[in-house]
This record gives sequence, C-alpha cells and structure tokens, in this order.
Amino acid sequence: MGLGSLFKRNKNKKEEETADCHIDINTQDCDGCEKCVIACQNNVLMMADEVSSVWNAQACKSCKVCMAICPNDCITVN
Ligand code: SF4
Ligand code: SF4
Repeated sequence: MGLGSLFKRNKNKKEEETADCHIDINTQDCDGCEKCVIACQNNVLMMADEVSSVWNAQACKSCKVCMAICPNDCITVN
C-alpha cells in the first residue's frame, strides 16, 4: 500500500460544516429580557422592537445556549 492513500480523505468536509442552522423565536412569548442576545457568543441575535430576532443566522454554531438560557422557552435551534 502506498503512502499517498493516507492523504486522500475528507476533501469535501468543509462545505458540510458551514451548513446553516435554523433558529425559531416565538416572539409572542418573548418578554425582551435580552438574555439570549447577551449569551450568544457569535452575535447571531439582536433586539428589534423589544423582542429578540435573528440577525446573522450564518454565524450560528448550533450551541443552543440561547435556547437553554431563555426563561420563557421562546427559542428553538435545529
Ligand atoms: S445556538 Fe448558540 S450560536 Fe446559535 S444563536 Fe443560539 S447561542 Fe448563538
Ligand atoms: S431570552 Fe427569551 S424572553 Fe429573553 S429576549 Fe431572548 S427570546 Fe426573549
């Protein structure tokens, strides 16, 4: 077996890793506490009209910290 075969793997992996996540915010239940906006390390969320909204979905890493911190269960990330 030649050494060359060891270097031929995972050529297409990067494209899969940059796939967008999907974030749903139930603005009916959002009380504007801003906890999710402050907690997101990737600046995905921002306040708009006193409720949380998705500002930059491409930056989301699907860590689900926003989901965990929301006291009103407004956020779903998948
Ligand atoms: S899942 Fe993580 S990266 Fe995505 S919006 Fe929530 S806190 Fe930010
Ligand atoms: S943590 Fe929940 S209630 Fe607070 S701003 Fe974010 S979505 Fe709204």
